[in-house]
Amino acid sequence: MRRLIDQLSRQRRLTKEEWVTLIAGQPERDYLFARARETARQYYGNAVYTRGLIEFTSYCKNNCFYCGIRRDNRSVKRYRLSEEEILSCCEQGYGLGFRTFVLQGGEDAFFTDERLVPLLSEIKRRYPDCALTLSVGERTKSSYQRLFDAGADRYLLRHETADAAHYRVLHPQEMSYANRRACLRALKEIGYQVGCGFMVGSPGQTAECLAEDMLFITELRPQMVGIGPFVPHHETPFAREAGGTAELTLYMIALLRLLKPDLLLPATTALGTIDPEGREKGILAGANVVMPNLSPTGVRKQYELYDNKICTGDEAAECRSCLSRRMERIGYRLVTDRGDPAKGPGGIICTT
Ligand code: SAH
Repeated sequence: MRRLIDQLSRQRRLTKEEWVTLIAGQPERDYLFARARETARQYYGNAVYTRGLIEFTSYCKNNCFYCGIRRDNRSVKRYRLSEEEILSCCEQGYGLGFRTFVLQGGEDAFFTDERLVPLLSEIKRRYPDCALTLSVGERTKSSYQRLFDAGADRYLLRHETADAAHYRVLHPQEMSYANRRACLRALKEIGYQVGCGFMVGSPGQTAECLAEDMLFITELRPQMVGIGPFVPHHETPFAREAGGTAELTLYMIALLRLLKPDLLLPATTALGTIDPEGREKGILAGANVVMPNLSPTGVRKQYELYDNKICTGDEAAECRSCLSRRMERIGYRLVTDRGDPAKGPGGIICTT
């Protein structure tokens, strides 16, 4: 089995059957983690990139079966941050050392291009040294283009699953697997740094589905891949389904690091939610990004995609210093940097 892991690390691709063998059996965990960690070190040293996450709207027109802010969940108190509130999150984040802001939200029709374009331009005018990431779901290619022209550098749009039949298990009929993929391709063509991703252990997911995810990522060549365990939310159709495990999530993180050594790979909040040391373990399995929350504490609880989400009560500064301590304990450092993909091996070891 080490042979397969070495082969992945050398050739940066595997066949579907080879992926299934690794994913279904999770052989040689320690060997894989060591290889993945060493690869991350070669490219990124001991630097951990941070992104300040601003969850700016919880309105959503979609009805994804797994998501706590799905349209049919009548018990969420919906909110939308004003432009001033968003800018004040950025100001606070900048002061704390964030050089990437991620604007994430549900698919909220209020945020037309006409509303987003001036907001993005203003953020870029105030913080020209920062990268701006959007994560607002599916839009038209011309909308993606306008947002890019207004200053958005990166776009996160998890593909959720690369298996068409599995996509149908997770989403209602009106949502389209083909459109999700078309959006990702459009984003790449426009020139965004693109992030796709999937949940680990979502209902109906098999090792074959995850193998398809790896093949899809091999072909798309995204700059980022966001993965975290599926965590059930009590007000969704998946309330009684089992959640994903930290074990498999970590294994997938490590495989992704070997598949694409320069990948921006977050140790996600969902991973930190199901295991108190999940984010540390994620970094030690090859992740190199963390995304603490910059949203105002007053609304945090209302952006609950899954149950028991951590850090919903903390101020942004507390989140940052808590994560910083956690990273230092395992020999890594949060860096004040836009955190673009590494150009090649030669990661820096930070001591300050
Ligand atoms: N509306 C945006 C942002 C979605 S929220 C978009 O469509 O891209 C970001 C991610 O959270 C989703 O892509 C999904 O993968 C993840 N997510 C949603 N519900 C979840 C759950 N119950 N458990 C774990 N992750 C979840």
